[in-house]
This record gives sequence, C-alpha cells and structure tokens, in this order.
Amino acid sequence: MSLLTIGSVAFDALETPYGKTDKIIGGSCTYIALSAGFFLPKVNVVAVVGDDFPQEYMDTLKSRGINLDGLQIKKGEKSFFWAGKYHNNMNSRDTLVTELNVLADFKPVIPASYQDCDYLMLGNLTPQVQIEAIQGLNKRPKLVVMDTMNFWMDVAMDDLKRVLTMVDVLCINDEEARQLSDQYSLRTAAKLIMAMGPKTLIIKKGEHGALLFQGDRMFYCPALPLEDVFDPTGAGDTFVGGFIGYLAKTDDISFENMRRAIVHGSAMASFCVEKFGTERLFEITEADLAGRVNEFRELASF
Ligand code: AMP
Repeated sequence: MSLLTIGSVAFDALETPYGKTDKIIGGSCTYIALSAGFFLPKVNVVAVVGDDFPQEYMDTLKSRGINLDGLQIKKGEKSFFWAGKYHNNMNSRDTLVTELNVLADFKPVIPASYQDCDYLMLGNLTPQVQIEAIQGLNKRPKLVVMDTMNFWMDVAMDDLKRVLTMVDVLCINDEEARQLSDQYSLRTAAKLIMAMGPKTLIIKKGEHGALLFQGDRMFYCPALPLEDVFDPTGAGDTFVGGFIGYLAKTDDISFENMRRAIVHGSAMASFCVEKFGTERLFEITEADLAGRVNEFRELASF
C-alpha cells in the first residue's frame, strides 16, 4: 500500500550527556520515512529544504527507498534548523534553537504521482500546512495519522482543532494530551480528545511506553528498558513511522492490528535511541527487528 508522509527535513544539532553533534540530518519527516521505509519498498515524501541541504543526504535517503519527488529545494534559502540539549535523565530536553527558515512559508505541493495515497502520515508541522496536505489530495486516504506538539497548542489551537476533525489517528505524548484536554487522567483525556475528531488516539509516555485508545478499547505497550540511551531525538517520529509503516504493509486498520503496529513502532523507536540522530536506523536488519519484537513479547505477555 502506498504511504505519503509530510513533515520537516532538517539540520539538527544535538547534545546529550554522551556527546555533542554538529549539524546532522534530522527532522520529523526524515525519522518517519526511515522508520516506515523499513516496512515498505517505497515511502513518498512531501517536504522542503534550502539549497544548503547536501546532495549526499538526499542520496542516502533515496537509497533507502524514500521518494523525494515531492521535496522542494528552495534556492538561496536555508533549511529548517533545530538544536536540542538533553538533561542527565534523558527524559527532558531544552530546545536551544528553532530556525524555521524554509518552513516559515512552506506550501505543500502533492505531485500527481502521489495522488493514489492509501496511508497519509502528517508529521509535526504547522496545523495549517497539515490541513493543506489533506486538501491537496484528490481522494481521502484509507487512514490519516497525525502527530503534533504542545507548541502548536500554544500558538495555533484553532487550526489544530480543525485538523483533528479531519484525521483518524492522533499521536501525542502524555503532557500534550493533558494540555489538549485540560484533564489529568489520561483515560478521561482520551475520551475528550477522541470527541474532537480522531477515532483512535495514541498517547506516548516516553520510556514508559504508549497507550492506544479507540472507543472503549485500550491497549498498553511498554517501552523496552535499555541499558544505554544515547540520544532520544526522533524516537517519537520513529515510533509513529513504524506504526503507520506496519499498518500500510499489512493493510489492516483493525484495532487488533493497531496493537501489533504499536509494538513494531516501539521496537523501531528502541533502536533509534541507541545512537545519535538517525545513525542506528541505517544499521538494523529485519532479523534485528524480529528479535526485538520478540523481546517485547517476552517482556509483556503472561
Ligand atoms: P522528536 O524527538 O520525535 O520530538 O523529533 C525530533 C525532530 O523533530 C528533530 O529532528 C527536529 O528537527 C524536529 N522538530 C523539532 N521542532 C520542530 C518543529 N517545530 N516543527 C517541525 N519539526 C520539528
């Protein structure tokens, strides 16, 4: 099944207790596409970069089956840049720099060859751009999954609420779920958020796993306890990329299959954090993934 993802393709500068990187490849769309691409022969991307974005990075993405026909390259402009620093416990981070650059006036253009899209992943971006991406498609995809962040709740709540009425699955973290619903109990929050539009809600809880809600049904997937977490950047995007990649591969959007998809997304995210940036996502094999999914099974079945 065909998958289209939209989001940021960026330069990231990262600092964790284990070290520091200069500008390396990052962005929500990059992590999503790399993770979903693990399950599919091809992932279509709609995003924007400046002409400072190295050809080498684009070639690397293409070599992983990521189709960049929908990547706009803006002459004379700079790519989106984000810098973050993690604290000792790795659970919290400070955003040091957000330079929107090309993202500031990004107008998503969907190439004709992407119009058959069955699965649409809206990565973290301005809600208005997420709306334009949905509206740019001639037919509604079978499943639309959306990611967002607290920042948009602070500055663009009305637009955000509008996108929520247009999507099937929302994926946010626990803090964001509490902010969006104004409720502390995640179960109550989930009910209120599902009433805003999405029939399915995923609440990520970082190193404490993820919850899946749909109607009265609920599923919990733990995160795999790891000995060393080097860099959590992109874990959320890798998680949701694995989730939608697995659904698109199996072409089954039942709640039962979403449970399996959550486990596969969690397994992909557990690899992502083992090295800096996207590095680890380039190394893993199908056997590695199968092994890790088994570790999740061992961890949680009784
Ligand atoms: P995560 O760790 O899953 O939250 O994702 C981190 C990625 O999100 C980094 O690679 C950043 O480039 C990207 N990112 C950070 N802030 C934004 C933003 N405001 N809009 C789009 N992408 C962002």
